[in-house]
Amino acid sequence: MRMAIDLRSDTVTRPSQEMRDAIASAPVGDDVYGDDPTVNSLEERVAHLFGHEAALFAPTGSLANQLAIRMLVAPGEEIIAETNSHIVRAELGAAAVFSGITTRTWPAVNGLLVADDALNIARPNSGPYLVSTTAIAVENTHNFGGGTVQPLAQIEKLRAGANDLGLALHLDGARIWNAHVASGVSFKDYGKNFDTISVCLSKGLGAPVGSIMISTKERVARARVWRKRYGAGMRQIGLLAAAGHFALDHNIQRLSEDHRRAKDLAVAIAAINSSLIDPTTVETNIVGLDLSGLPISAAELATRCKESGLWISALGPKYARLVTHLDFDDAQCAQAIEILQRALKV
Ligand SMILES: *Cc1c(COP(=O)(O)O)cnc(C)c1O
Repeated sequence: MRMAIDLRSDTVTRPSQEMRDAIASAPVGDDVYGDDPTVNSLEERVAHLFGHEAALFAPTGSLANQLAIRMLVAPGEEIIAETNSHIVRAELGAAAVFSGITTRTWPAVNGLLVADDALNIARPNSGPYLVSTTAIAVENTHNFGGGTVQPLAQIEKLRAGANDLGLALHLDGARIWNAHVASGVSFKDYGKNFDTISVCLSKGLGAPVGSIMISTKERVARARVWRKRYGAGMRQIGLLAAAGHFALDHNIQRLSEDHRRAKDLAVAIAAINSSLIDPTTVETNIVGLDLSGLPISAAELATRCKESGLWISALGPKYARLVTHLDFDDAQCAQAIEILQRALKV
């Protein structure tokens, strides 16, 4: 029997032999003492890449997000974000549970950023009776929006508006690598518009573990204390940082292949039933399917596909998601299309 084709997420990749070799030979030290040279060089490298002063390795993107927004927003204040953003929907209320931060949201079609949507609901300095907004979060690319790339012009407009209102901006850049490859916008041009940034090494870049929080020296020093307080002060994690270095060296530009295969999947699926997806909305590696025009649920579709050896995610009653990645090649793409053609025949 052949191996299942796994398109549930871009987190399912396994480290290549070359990445494992880089892990095995990494110089390490105790990172809680600041002694791990591979972690230190990775933090410096990523901070520099985005034009910021400092960075902090975190085991997960959720923790990198939570450390970042904790540095921007005080207890009892709010961060505003798009309705389907990861910070709001997929971090299990961490901002409220850990930091006393509340959220308010604006809805956006495909998660696409329109600066005025955010600025119109921002309420800074709300006085003694109402919650004050202190930060805005932007997700790029937007995961549940279907891998949407946020337009630089809207980001810049949001930055200018946030400056006028005295608000901070956080970038959830778990897939900023995909945004960069799809748009050609440099990491520095993204970076300069945000006060804090989180990026993931374990999504499209294929590292087994790791995210980085990026900001000023002062915020990163404070976040380092909070990381330890949360129990995520780690020791010889140069082993993990080495995978991050390897991923940055080898796995950024190849994301364009993931994007091409996602587009191929979308075009093939739209040919089966055009209500499932508009292929022009697929800009990166995520293919979100709207099953509201079909008599089957997303869970039923996922079950049918699984029986044929294709794993996809059912993320809502009528929303299914396929994500292309480093361990998914052209031959598997052709097989996946055949399986979908059979599964979607209703
Ligand atoms: C995956 C992801 C994260 C981080 O997730 P972890 O599983 O905690 O590493 C953050 N933001 C977005 C948009 C993501 O897709």
